[in-house]
Amino acid sequence: MTFKDLGIAPPLLRAVEEEGYHTPTPIQQKAIPILLRGKDLLGVAQTGTGKTAAFGIPILHHLFNGQNGERGKRRIKALIVTPTRELAIQIGESFTAYGKFTSIRNTVIFGGVKQGRQTRELQRGVDILVATPGRLLDLMNQGYISLRDIQYAVLDEADQMLDMGFIHDIKKIIAKLPSKRQSLFFSATMPRDIVELSRKILGDFERVAV
Ligand code: AMP
Repeated sequence: MTFKDLGIAPPLLRAVEEEGYHTPTPIQQKAIPILLRGKDLLGVAQTGTGKTAAFGIPILHHLFNGQNGERGKRRIKALIVTPTRELAIQIGESFTAYGKFTSIRNTVIFGGVKQGRQTRELQRGVDILVATPGRLLDLMNQGYISLRDIQYAVLDEADQMLDMGFIHDIKKIIAKLPSKRQSLFFSATMPRDIVELSRKILGDFERVAV
């Protein structure tokens, strides 16, 4: 199987080729068709499996196809919540790489640094927001971020987020998401509290494990 066989939009195919990817990884082969059909996804997978492209490419594909002359300020249409600053930065870089032949914009926010640069980027307008939970809630509470227009919501490394004590933050974030959305939930392990959390975000989903 090739990326071309997956039927992704031409500018994404070109970007993936420039990244030097030849064959989709197992999670990409399984998850991308499900996500292109608009289904919710439960992914049991670790970092290093190609998980970021597995969710990033379908999100970019939908946003690219949905770009019909949007006017005014860009609204955040895709949200990726991830536990650490390092993961957030990596995911943002991946969206930038896979989306480089489109005009889709992303930004990354995380705690532990001053918020000025982050809020300026948000005010310029982005399509995709990658965030750690605490800073996301903080900037939502300050009115810099609205989740009203979210169409795609990803919870990444859910088990790690729970281990880090983010459960209440995650629940508050989920409560602010529009009900009509596509949801993706990734975790390396699936203990009972993670299964329960996944039920709070996912609708009718398909499960992929690698
Ligand atoms: P991730 O699991 O998303 O953190 O990805 C792990 C690494 O695999 C990253 O360095 C990606 O650039 C790389 N990668 C992702 N998908 C592919 C692919 N289909 N072929 C080769 N490398 C890939």
